[in-house]
Amino acid sequence: MQTSFTLAQLADADTRDADKILRTCVHCGFCNATCPTFALLGDELDGPRGRIYLIKDMLEHDRAPTRRVVLHIDRCLSCLACMTTCPSGVNYMHLVDQARHRIERSYRRPWSERQLRRLLAAVLPRPTLFRAALFGAALLRPVRALLPGRLARLAALAPARPPAPSPLYGGYVFPAEGPRKLRVALLAVCAQQVLAPRIDEATIRLLTRHGCEVVLAKGAACCGSLTHHMGKDSRAMMRANIDAWTRELEAGGLDAVVVNVSGCGTTVKEYGYLLREDKAYAAKAARISALARDVTEVLARLGLRAAARPTGQRVAYHAACSLQHGQRVLAEPKALLTQAGFAVQDVAEGHLCCGSAGTYNMLEPKLADALRSRKLGNIASTKPEVVAAGNIGCINQLADGSGVPVVHTVELLDWATGGPVPEPMRGSIAGG
Ligand code: SF4
Ligand code: SF4
Repeated sequence: MQTSFTLAQLADADTRDADKILRTCVHCGFCNATCPTFALLGDELDGPRGRIYLIKDMLEHDRAPTRRVVLHIDRCLSCLACMTTCPSGVNYMHLVDQARHRIERSYRRPWSERQLRRLLAAVLPRPTLFRAALFGAALLRPVRALLPGRLARLAALAPARPPAPSPLYGGYVFPAEGPRKLRVALLAVCAQQVLAPRIDEATIRLLTRHGCEVVLAKGAACCGSLTHHMGKDSRAMMRANIDAWTRELEAGGLDAVVVNVSGCGTTVKEYGYLLREDKAYAAKAARISALARDVTEVLARLGLRAAARPTGQRVAYHAACSLQHGQRVLAEPKALLTQAGFAVQDVAEGHLCCGSAGTYNMLEPKLADALRSRKLGNIASTKPEVVAAGNIGCINQLADGSGVPVVHTVELLDWATGGPVPEPMRGSIAGG
């Protein structure tokens, strides 16, 4: 694709990068074939190629974003299916992130939308505030039909009874069982700490059982993913994590920074890119990104222990977009589940997003619901006894309506190798 940025525009690192990305695109349109919003809406501007043209026009002409541009960019899930499909290697993620940041800086949204976005950005990265908000939402659930649109949506998405806080997060070092093979830092993801601390508990049991010393680094907190994808400057959060993990790296050594929420893992793997122009942090950020691993990548490297109990359940594996498209980790979770004795079922249209996508199901509820229904239909056709996924957003999105327990992959692996029955499976499955 030809571009026409001026030399003055190209003095800016982001614009140079956008120019490079745009020139890679040969506008073949293959990406439209796997784009969920194009599949639902059939509008060229709701597919990646159309969005690329909109972004190109906005950046080249230094135009303020119009309502039309914002509408089509907002509808994008950042699922990155288009990146997996693109034969030319177009980095759509970096391009759409630039567009979102420009929109955030220079487009004035309606008042109610501004307040909703502010609320989400303030609450979600802070576990204490998020827990308090969930209790408030739980109180409102019985009268949610009376609430105005978006508030009703938030109340409906909140769990009826948020789980109790886990003592786990007061810990620092969790020693390896037997000889130590690896020393890893685990990112305790902010929203997951509140919504499903059982997943971090299972992760720590599983990793320590397989010879990992696990550290919850002091000072590590939200990775910045949710707010970054809302177009907000999240680099302060990223720097705080980089500092925390660098301290651990220098004090005791680290073999990996482990993430068990794939949306967050994708962002930590991008720290090096996102801070490339920050002289004080560029090298440290690149080092942390090089250490970042999805939990299943680490387990695949360690080799899974033989199952400690009979398994064999039919597991529908839902590949979270951020894991399969963002990190290109697709084989490891399925291979580990198979090794643990589960009968892993592929879900039809597995490339399509379930509609969760960070804050998407709160900001674009109609499209999110349509994708959720389509995903649940595809899952049901595998007749599973349980659904496994590697991202808390997907787990929450699918849990209500799947008719079977929806758990994190590590919960099944933990159970198979000696841990307790995953809480959502208790009483619903043989052996539970
Ligand atoms: S598939 Fe790649 S090269 Fe083709 S239009 Fe889409 S982004 Fe451009
Ligand atoms: S990120 Fe997903 S929704 Fe957005 S353009 Fe690409 S395929 Fe479509």
